[in-house]
Amino acid sequence: MSATVGAVGVLDLQGGVQEHLDHLQRIGVTGRPVKRAVELAGLAGLIIPGGESTCLARLLTIFGLRAAIEQAYDKGLNLWGTCAGAILLARENVGEASFLGLIDIAVNRNAFGSQLDSFHCTALAPAVAREPLPLTFIRAPKIVRIGAGVRALLSLDDYVAAAEDARILVTVFHPELTPSLAFHRYFAHKCGLNVAEADDADLDPGWTPHSWTRFSPHA
Ligand code: GLN
Repeated sequence: MSATVGAVGVLDLQGGVQEHLDHLQRIGVTGRPVKRAVELAGLAGLIIPGGESTCLARLLTIFGLRAAIEQAYDKGLNLWGTCAGAILLARENVGEASFLGLIDIAVNRNAFGSQLDSFHCTALAPAVAREPLPLTFIRAPKIVRIGAGVRALLSLDDYVAAAEDARILVTVFHPELTPSLAFHRYFAHKCGLNVAEADDADLDPGWTPHSWTRFSPHA
C-alpha cells in the first residue's frame, strides 16, 4: 500500500477501530486502518485503540507490528493509546510485564473493578478543550504515576486519566465513544496536521449513542 502522507493510522487488530476512524473523518483527517507493518509508512500518527491489552499484545507480536511500531516511533511517529492502548504504551504495568514501554507512566489495569463498574462522567481538561468533556471509562486502568517528562492533561480523584509527553498521548477513557472530537483534534495537532479549530463544545451533532455500534467493514 502506498503511503498517505498526513494520515493517522488506527491499529486494526482488535478493539474500537471504526469508532476512531469515524472521529478522524469528522475532523477532516484521513484515517487509515493498520493491520500490517508496511501500512505504517508515511503516517503522522498511530492510534492504538481500546480493547483488551493482553490480546492486543499477542496480536502485535504475532503480526510483527511490535518491532515495526517501535521503529516507526524512533523515526518520528506520534502515538495515542486509548485505554488498552495506554496500557501497552506504559513503561510500568503494576504487577505485570510492560509491553512497548514508550511513555514514562505507570498504569494499574482494571483499577475500577469489573466491566460492570464502567461509567461515564464529565470533566475539564483545560489544555484540550474549553468546555468540560464527556468521558466514557470501560474497565479502564488508572495512571498511578507520571514521570518527569510527562504532563497530566486530566487528573481525577487519585489518578491521572490523560497524559502526554512530546510525542505520545495516553487516555484511559474513550473519546471515540462520545460525541466529543476534542481529543482527536488535539492528537491531530500533536501530529502536526492542519485541522480546523473547533467551537467551544467541539461535539459532533450527528453522533448518537448507537452510531458506533453499526458494522462498517474497512478491509
Ligand atoms: N481492561 C482492558 C485491559 O486491561 C482495557 C479495557 C479497554 O480498553 N476499554 O486491557
